[in-house]
Amino acid sequence: MTHDEKWAAAARWNGETVAPGTRHDITLTVSRSYSGADIGVPIHVWRGPEPGPSVFVTGAVHGDEINGTGTVRHILQERPFDLRAGTLVLVPVVNIPAFEQLSRYSPDRRDLNRSFPGSPTGSLSSRLAHVTFQNIVARCDYGIDLHTAAVRRTNYPNARADMNQEATARLATLFGAELLINSRGPEGSLRRAALAAGCATMTLEAGEVWKVEPAVVEYALRGIRNVLVGLKMIEGDIVEPSYRTVAEDTRWIRAEEGGFLRFHVHPGDTVEKGQPLATNTSLAGRSLNTLTAPRDAIVLAMTTLPAVSPGDPVAHLAFPSESALRKMEQALGKLPEDSLLARLHDDLASNVMLSDLDDPYEQ
Ligand SMILES: [Zn+2]
Repeated sequence: MTHDEKWAAAARWNGETVAPGTRHDITLTVSRSYSGADIGVPIHVWRGPEPGPSVFVTGAVHGDEINGTGTVRHILQERPFDLRAGTLVLVPVVNIPAFEQLSRYSPDRRDLNRSFPGSPTGSLSSRLAHVTFQNIVARCDYGIDLHTAAVRRTNYPNARADMNQEATARLATLFGAELLINSRGPEGSLRRAALAAGCATMTLEAGEVWKVEPAVVEYALRGIRNVLVGLKMIEGDIVEPSYRTVAEDTRWIRAEEGGFLRFHVHPGDTVEKGQPLATNTSLAGRSLNTLTAPRDAIVLAMTTLPAVSPGDPVAHLAFPSESALRKMEQALGKLPEDSLLARLHDDLASNVMLSDLDDPYEQ
């Protein structure tokens, strides 16, 4: 579909008419429960009075990742802007069957975010993917898919987009995340399948499962608003990020010993090659080994559970260029204490005990 065809198609949703300048709640029937009841995905279609692009914002493709659900709820309840042009499709929870179980996975134990674009004759997850893809993604020009870290981990906010594609690069640049991972996304992921179908889509990875974290919601809203301003769908000014860093290379640093961790870094910290990340101790408090950064990096994600077995992920590092890291450190050094980034840094994994390698409790 062309942009004009998408604007024209935005008038009809699941048999209902949504006129320009109006907004409607619509339920897409995606499946049936074990007891035979319809399973519906509630969506909110908001059309501006003037023609413009169609943009979707999705939460909870993974049923336990509800920071995106809280972000969409904020837009629905607080109405933080007025839509002047185009169509905004808000989906608080894509994977309703998984959300009902507060689980990442669908009831068939598949990952919906590896099931797109789906098939009408496939597994439950594949059918759910198919209905949501055809009814939402295929009808939009741009998409923002909101995720969090998996269970027992937290993500410093980072956008993920295929920067080699012009439309996706434009979207991600408008969103204005400080940290951007340039990647196509896994096979079957919403954003990769969406891009292949002509809908430029990016992901925000931020925060933890089972929480609506205020600073994460604020961060997601800042980006969504930036995109809508940039696409001339709402009025306002773009809020530039404090810095822009793109990384392609990331790696999980995994525990080498079983034991109890003491963390030395925080999500969002920059670290130098050889800098301690976490120390594994026995339950009696004896240090077993210290994990260190293999290169200069930024801490993208951390485990929130200090008990680990060998192989368990401890810290997810991204490796931007040296000059990008230095610029980032300069920008971070100038941040006011009440800035969004400073609050994010403090709030993520709050109540996690941080200690220096040489603190007096070291034995
Ligand atoms: Zn996810």
